Amino acid sequence: MLNVKTIGVIGAGQMGGGIALVAASNKFNVVLCEKSADQLHKCEADHKKRLGREVEKQRMQQADADAALKRIKYVQAMDLIRDCDFVVEAVVESSQVKRDIFAGLARMMREEVILATNTSSISITEIAAAAEVAHKGAGQRVIGMHFFNPVPVMKLVEVIKGLQTSEATTSGTIELAKLLGKTPVPANDRAGFVSNRVLMPLINEAFYAWMEGVAEPAHIDEIMKLGCNFPMGPLRLADFIGLDTCEHIMNVLADGLNNDRYRACPLLRQLVAAGRLGDKSGRGVFDYTQPAK
Ligand code: NAD
Repeated sequence: MLNVKTIGVIGAGQMGGGIALVAASNKFNVVLCEKSADQLHKCEADHKKRLGREVEKQRMQQADADAALKRIKYVQAMDLIRDCDFVVEAVVESSQVKRDIFAGLARMMREEVILATNTSSISITEIAAAAEVAHKGAGQRVIGMHFFNPVPVMKLVEVIKGLQTSEATTSGTIELAKLLGKTPVPANDRAGFVSNRVLMPLINEAFYAWMEGVAEPAHIDEIMKLGCNFPMGPLRLADFIGLDTCEHIMNVLADGLNNDRYRACPLLRQLVAAGRLGDKSGRGVFDYTQPAK
């Protein structure tokens, strides 16, 4: 049986902020660690706003919203998560940064604590190896816990076992995901896991269709929405995810699966080079700088 009262979340960006909020709303104490003071304040303000909206829409009582907010400690120093019972890391998608963090966690955390990463593409086995080098036996406590964006809305958690991950770590992570109100689904540690292995080549193919003049971007999206029942067209989704992230994941697939058919479409690479990254830069496939018609 899992005995988790306090969850440590590392990184208070889009994903870490969402994970912390979901945990606190499900009655866990949270220590949210973010290196940037600015981002930490932004995240706290965002939590207040989101909880306020839940109260306004009568989906939550004011007292419960206040209690959820009180359960989150916003901190900058990593060692303040030392006493947590479970850790979810959600910092930038960099293998080196994540391996350093997991080496630190392996040395610092109690031996029974599960160390989960929210990576969308980096090998769990490699992250676990860095933990194992830092502290013998820590590798088996490392696992992928892949939440989806926006975390409070999306039900899925892809649970990814590295080569070293123990059964106890896997079952503990599945149990925690359920306690957070999510639906955990297991996958193995191959490039892109399941979600990005299947989704990203489809998005990449939509860029090829555009580049080859098969149809205009809006028409590609409309065809996929109306014909395949997609809630959002693949090119609109690419803008939402971030075109740089899409390119990065295609590179991970091409390298990890050693197959050039996963290389990012030249048009996708060109847009990224031009700084057209999608929603976050105001323009990607589509232009978000003009008021919606
Ligand atoms: P983000 O850039 O919004 O947030 C990352 C945060 O981590 C930043 O605020 C940064 O300051 C902080 N950070 C970096 N190094 C740190 C450190 N050493 N200690 C504490 N904080 C640190 O990124 P995001 O979109 O939230 O993604 C985070 C992770 O989740 C990535 O691994 C990403 O691949 C994964 N992911 C993202 C999505 C998505 O749709 N954005 C979906 C699933 C998984």
